[in-house]
Amino acid sequence: MKKEIISSLFVLSMLSVGLGAANAPTPEELKAMHTITHSHVHTHVYNSHDHEHPPGLVIEEVNSSNSNKSVASTSVQKIIPVAKFNAEKTTASGDHDYKIAPKKVADGVWCMFGALEKPTKENAGFMSNSCYIQTKDSWVLWDTGATFKFAKQAYEAMNKIVPNLPVKTVIFSHEHDDHWLGANYYKERFNSKFIGSHLINERYKPGREAETRMFKVLKPHDVDKTKIIRIDQAYNHKGAKFNFGGVEMEYIPLGQAHSEDDYMLYMPKKKVLLAADVVMNGRITSNRDGLVSGQIKALKKVKSLKWDVLVPGHGYITDKTAADESILYFKLLKERILKAIDDGVDAADITSVVTLPEFKDKAMYDILNSGNVYRSYGELEMYDEDEDEE
Ligand SMILES: [Zn+2]
Ligand SMILES: [Zn+2]
Repeated sequence: MKKEIISSLFVLSMLSVGLGAANAPTPEELKAMHTITHSHVHTHVYNSHDHEHPPGLVIEEVNSSNSNKSVASTSVQKIIPVAKFNAEKTTASGDHDYKIAPKKVADGVWCMFGALEKPTKENAGFMSNSCYIQTKDSWVLWDTGATFKFAKQAYEAMNKIVPNLPVKTVIFSHEHDDHWLGANYYKERFNSKFIGSHLINERYKPGREAETRMFKVLKPHDVDKTKIIRIDQAYNHKGAKFNFGGVEMEYIPLGQAHSEDDYMLYMPKKKVLLAADVVMNGRITSNRDGLVSGQIKALKKVKSLKWDVLVPGHGYITDKTAADESILYFKLLKERILKAIDDGVDAADITSVVTLPEFKDKAMYDILNSGNVYRSYGELEMYDEDEDEE
């Protein structure tokens, strides 16, 4: 399945490039190309049991290993790693064109879904998800993405959907820079209030942008104007309840789970949970700054809340199954490492003994999985079963 999708996406990207147009091909154009290139293609409608596709999509895919290709419908481009498809495209002003197509996930909530990969020059930092929440008099934004230029294009895309609404408040999920480094756009344009983890203020200093991952990886032109911000209302392992313009929100602290200070944003009336990086799907998480025990606890909290829509920090599945991959990943990680420790496996051998093959087709597996296993071994060596029972 995974290979087929990759091949679909690859072909789509080739087609986009081949068209040389700023806009995605129309369904008619795709169909025309499709008839030229396709071999064994069937139409596939996404359902909640199929974790490879973004929700609500109709995708045509190859069902043979034949080299002649398939074509996905244009709706794929609205959600999937657009930046990747349009690596060479620029806006009229010569900037990377992020091709942001916000997707409405619930009443008054739109999200932007980034690529399932690490930051690259090709995706220009669009590899995490962020969401706009409409209130009576303004937007509340959940995470801003990684660059000033991304933030600007995101706002412009939203402004086409609901014009002239200022972003008064930005709430951040955690300190990783793919989720907040673009925020200074909102400060400069709207003087937005920033709510987030104290770790952003402690670990990132204005003027030292060059030390961030984004500045190290992306093209200088793409991080131009991007500046480290200050959190105005900082939280430290403690949450809050907000009501912004009639929309109730709970900023839920999760302690150290994926990062050292994680939060989710829950809107009980809308039954929407913006879970950020404690939930990912379609790709492997990075547990570099996290804890297996903290993740398992956070995922228990996710399960305990009533939601119909869950938006992960990375990934496209937002239905009832959105958290399933993460729940399974940490369950297996813990069980298998504990068993290996019982069996006397050394730290040096743990990554060859525990490989989580169930996840080998997920994005980032090769880059992140063994690191997660190795780090978790260190944590679970000290594991005391009583700790979990609270
Ligand atoms: Zn993160
Ligand atoms: Zn992230």
